[in-house]
Amino acid sequence: VRVKKAEFVKSSTNMAQCPQPKLPEFAVIGRSNVGKSSLINMLTGQAALAKVSKTPGKTIYINHFLINDSWYLVDLPGYGYAQRSKASRLEWSGFTKEYFLKRETLANVLLLVDASVPVQQPDLECASWLADAQVPFSLVFTKTDKRKKKCPSPRENIQAFQAALLRDFENLPLIFETDSETQKGHAEEELLKEWDAVPNVLTT
Ligand code: GDP
Repeated sequence: VRVKKAEFVKSSTNMAQCPQPKLPEFAVIGRSNVGKSSLINMLTGQAALAKVSKTPGKTIYINHFLINDSWYLVDLPGYGYAQRSKASRLEWSGFTKEYFLKRETLANVLLLVDASVPVQQPDLECASWLADAQVPFSLVFTKTDKRKKKCPSPRENIQAFQAALLRDFENLPLIFETDSETQKGHAEEELLKEWDAVPNVLTT
């Protein structure tokens, strides 16, 4: 496993609290319940790390984890709410937005999308927002193992999501598929290898 060492550094509630911008960082975002904690566990092999990210309450935390003493994995608050209606729009904190626009050491954002459910508007909006702001990001489809009864398959959901993006953008970002239940295919290895390799900003 490429992650040999992973340690929690700090939780920040504003830009000034974030660690000195001296190392490249890779941020993870997605709707609540998308499987962000599971992915962080899978990437780092440490269940305890993601627990930190489950801090209850309304305060918006950005959590920095130092990986292999050389880069930060950044856990951003989930956006939107799973229990809201299908029409729910992208709702995220001003701090998250500010972080995306101002963090000079941000190398890439992993936008997590649940492959077990049909295309969700907030996820599309988040992708478009990142593309418009020229923030480099990759798409990670989670729960690719999860087949819900009477629902399209993860494969169909993934294809529909890509098709929706291609209606607005000329090309797609780097795409990964994960399944943290079985860790099939060791997607995390591929993820870490490719993550910073491609400058993938969507072009309009
Ligand atoms: P978070 O709220 O985004 O941090 O999501 P969690 O990591 O806590 O996961 C939410 C739920 O989805 C939990 O019940 C997980 O067990 C489940 N889950 C996460 N990843 C996967 C996956 O790859 N496959 C399946 N089948 N379930 C998953």
